Amino acid sequence: MAVERTLAILKPDCVRKNLIGEVIRRIQEAGFTIRAMKMVRLTKQEAEGFYAVHRGRPFFEDLTTFMSSGPCVPIVLEKENAVADFRALIGATDPAEAAEGTIRRTFADNKGENIVHGSDSVENGRLEANYFFPEHEIVANS
Ligand code: ADP
Ligand code: MG
Repeated sequence: MAVERTLAILKPDCVRKNLIGEVIRRIQEAGFTIRAMKMVRLTKQEAEGFYAVHRGRPFFEDLTTFMSSGPCVPIVLEKENAVADFRALIGATDPAEAAEGTIRRTFADNKGENIVHGSDSVENGRLEANYFFPEHEIVANS
């Protein structure tokens, strides 16, 4: 299996619920290495840019309002098979459908406010990481 990178975002609900530490603990326990991390408050326009692929969907307005409603924590993660393994760790988009023990099932309130983002492909992971971090802020092998 290849070493991959993926972009996680601890969403504003995760920050508001004081779950940053707990979620990062679970991520590290699952074997992911943190390569970059910061806290940012997205503007509405920045949230729209990040989720541009969903423009026109019925939930787009609520999603981008939510994502710009408070600080969030983008994190570049690295691991073998990182993209699929991270999505397995967080669970399905709707916490009610997410597997028992996943981060979303455990902590999320609903399909919109679902605690954490995870990239859906290696290529999108690279693009999404670069949305938040210039290459020199992504730390190479330590
Ligand atoms: P995922 O984050 O699991 O990859 P999507 O890429 O389909 O899910 O959607 C991006 C985000 O948009 C979701 O994480 C969630 O916050 C929101 N979202 C998606 N579908 C819905 C929906 N039907 N109702 C409300 N919010 C949604
Ligand atoms: Mg997605």
